[in-house]
Amino acid sequence: MWATMPDAAHPLGALLREARRRLSEAGVTDAALDARLLVEHFTGTTRSQAITDPTLPVHGVEPLIAAVERRLAGEPLHRILGFREFYGLKLELSRETLEPRPDTETLVDAVLPFVREVSERRGACRILDLGTGTGAILLAVLSACPKASGMGVDISADAVATATRNADHLGLSNRFAAVQSDWFEEISGRYDVIASNPPYIPSQQIEGLQQEVRHFDPVRALDGGADGLDPYRIIGEQGPAYLAHGGLAALEIGHDQKADVTAIFSSCGWSLVEALTDLGGNDRVLLFTRP
Ligand code: GLN
Repeated sequence: MWATMPDAAHPLGALLREARRRLSEAGVTDAALDARLLVEHFTGTTRSQAITDPTLPVHGVEPLIAAVERRLAGEPLHRILGFREFYGLKLELSRETLEPRPDTETLVDAVLPFVREVSERRGACRILDLGTGTGAILLAVLSACPKASGMGVDISADAVATATRNADHLGLSNRFAAVQSDWFEEISGRYDVIASNPPYIPSQQIEGLQQEVRHFDPVRALDGGADGLDPYRIIGEQGPAYLAHGGLAALEIGHDQKADVTAIFSSCGWSLVEALTDLGGNDRVLLFTRP
C-alpha cells in the first residue's frame, strides 16, 4: 500500500521500489525506467540520491503517487511528465499536440543538409512547418542551424501556444513564429522548405491504434481522412505557391504511403529527390522539389 510508505530508513528508495513493483505487476513495459523517471520528476531527485541518501527530505510524494496511478491507468509516460525529448531538445507537450516520435527525427536529419547549404549560400533559410504541434521539427532544425528561421503553423490555438512556449524556453523565439492557420490559409510569402508531419492515418484505422495513441494523442493530429492522404493533396496542390525557387518539401509519411504520396506530388509537378527510412526500416520521409 502507498499508505504504508515511505520506509523510514530509505524513504525515496522505498518509493522508487514500490512504484516499480506496481508498474511491473500491471504489465507496463519499461516499468523500471518509467518508475525512475516519475520519481525523479515528481520528487526532484536523481535515482542515485533516492537510493543512497536516506536523509533526503521527501517532497512530492502525493503528486508522485497520483502520477503512478495515471501510468497504471494507461496514460503514456511523457503525457504525465508533460514533456518529451526530441532531437536532444526538451519539449513541453499539451492536450492538443502530438507526442513527438523518434521516427520524426529522420525528417530533421533529412532536411538539415539542405537547410545548411541554403543558409551558407544566402545567409538565411526560411522554413514553414505545417502542423507544427509542439514545434518539434522546426525547433530541432533551428537549434541545429543558427541562420535558419521559420513559421510553425497549426490549426490548434493550444498547439500554437505550446510551440511558442517551447521556442521561448529554448531561446529560439527570435527565429521562430507560430500562427494558427488551417494549412496555408493564413500564410503569405515563400519559404525555402515546407516541412510537415501531417495527420496520415486513414480515418477507419484510428479505432485500431494502440490505446496510448488513440486515447492520448489528439485525433486531429492523426486522422488524414478516408485514405489518410488528404493532407498530402493539400500540400502538393497548394504548396508550390508558398515555395521559393529551388525549394524543398519534406514530408513524414505512413510506412505504406510512399507510392501514393509520390503519385500525388508528381501529379502536382513535384519530383521526388530522396526517400528515407526510419530506424525500424520503414519508409518514413520523402523529399520533393519542383524543377
Ligand atoms: N506516427 C504516428 C503514429 O503512428 C502518426 C503520426 C501522424 O499521423 N502524423 O501514431
